[in-house]
Amino acid sequence: MAFKRVLIANRGEIALRILRALRDMGISVAIIHGREDRLSLPVRLSDVAIPIRRDNPLDSYLDIEAVIQAAKDIDADAIHPGYGFLAENANFVRRLEEEGITFIGPSSEVMTLLGDKIEARKAMEAAGLPIAQGSSEPIDEAGVASALADKIGYPVIIKAAAGGGGIGMQIVNAADEFAGALKLCRSRARSAFGDARVFVEKYIVGAQHIEFQVLGDGEKAIHFGERFCSIQRRHQKLVEEGPWLEPEVREKIGALVCRGAAQVGYKGLATFEFLRDKNGDFYFLEVNPRVQVEHTVTEMITGHNLVELGIRIAQGEPITLSQDEISWHGHAIQCRINAEDPVGFIPSPGKLWDCHFPSGYGIRCDTHAHVGYDMPGCFDSLLAKLLAWGETRDAAIARMKTALDETRIIGIETLIPLHRRIMDESDFRARDITIQYVDEHQELFG
Ligand code: ADP
Repeated sequence: MAFKRVLIANRGEIALRILRALRDMGISVAIIHGREDRLSLPVRLSDVAIPIRRDNPLDSYLDIEAVIQAAKDIDADAIHPGYGFLAENANFVRRLEEEGITFIGPSSEVMTLLGDKIEARKAMEAAGLPIAQGSSEPIDEAGVASALADKIGYPVIIKAAAGGGGIGMQIVNAADEFAGALKLCRSRARSAFGDARVFVEKYIVGAQHIEFQVLGDGEKAIHFGERFCSIQRRHQKLVEEGPWLEPEVREKIGALVCRGAAQVGYKGLATFEFLRDKNGDFYFLEVNPRVQVEHTVTEMITGHNLVELGIRIAQGEPITLSQDEISWHGHAIQCRINAEDPVGFIPSPGKLWDCHFPSGYGIRCDTHAHVGYDMPGCFDSLLAKLLAWGETRDAAIARMKTALDETRIIGIETLIPLHRRIMDESDFRARDITIQYVDEHQELFG
């Protein structure tokens, strides 16, 4: 069934990205918004905007019943959650299923399975994906954890079963650290996710973060290759790029992720995240059951409109593309232009007195910013995603530098000076990058 109207339950650049896809498809666009976003670009451009006023600005986007009421009031066929907020909330998906409103994403059952890292590890191991050695059940006793660590070897990492956003993780190097570390992780997990369960996994030293973009229709799945996202601070990505792997490796891991997605009956866009160690071995981390910030990298190198494909699946259309029709052309890099100071990563909200974002051949810039935009301090600090494409990685880097130089933002601080330095840094240029890159390159902050 073709959607007539879709409600966007999100804000910022991703709300604008979804709005554009809906418009392309001839679907009426509705959006909810809090007080801070009433003058934002996606709200002004939508056909219908529904205010949800709350004292805490985040609550406008987290109030499940208010969002559902908004969808009913304006007769929306479906809700697009974007990323963050309610995008991975299985209770929200369940409530929409009860109300007969389509959720653009997987079913509540699949969401519940994938939201639990212990269960997701089990399901993906059963589908043949390589996982890091670790516990297949929650662990709360130091004795049990240290017995396991003796078997698999130190260092290990304690992780929250319900984890996300890098919260509730702790590296452990010796048995006597377990008691304290378990207590800390469990209490962090309880307060962040309402679920104290943690598990232990082998810590992969010198790892790279590599993730696969997948699309499933409930029966079959195809992949759009990988993105390399190892440049992170506090487990959050700053620079993403692709492609990264040799074609044979892509084909091998790609086939595995498609099998994993098909086996759980996955519907919609998903990202399968992995770590790859120095020997080139892959370890499954988690599935992100939603559109991701960096889907844009894949759109640039494959030429496929991923957001539209995700909406089509939710409309009940099967995947008509075959794996052979997916090919990769050139190289794309994305720099996250966060409104933060480029040394301490402290948020820098405020008014954009003037701004100019680059465009031109091989450049894409996804942003909700404009002259006069008041960047609120209460939400995520992502202001713009700047992408550069080139025939080769070096060409993409050269074009990114041109684009960063061209960007003008007056009024707030951004990560642009940091990105300029990264683009010139010799290990980055040589592709010698692990998830410790930022820690090991403190000169970038000097
Ligand atoms: P979250 O869901 O909180 O983002 P992930 O499991 O996706 O957690 O891990 C996020 C990041 O944490 C990874 O990109 C990596 O930097 C680090 N990490 C997680 N598990 C391991 C591990 N077993 N070994 C080394 N680093 C890890």
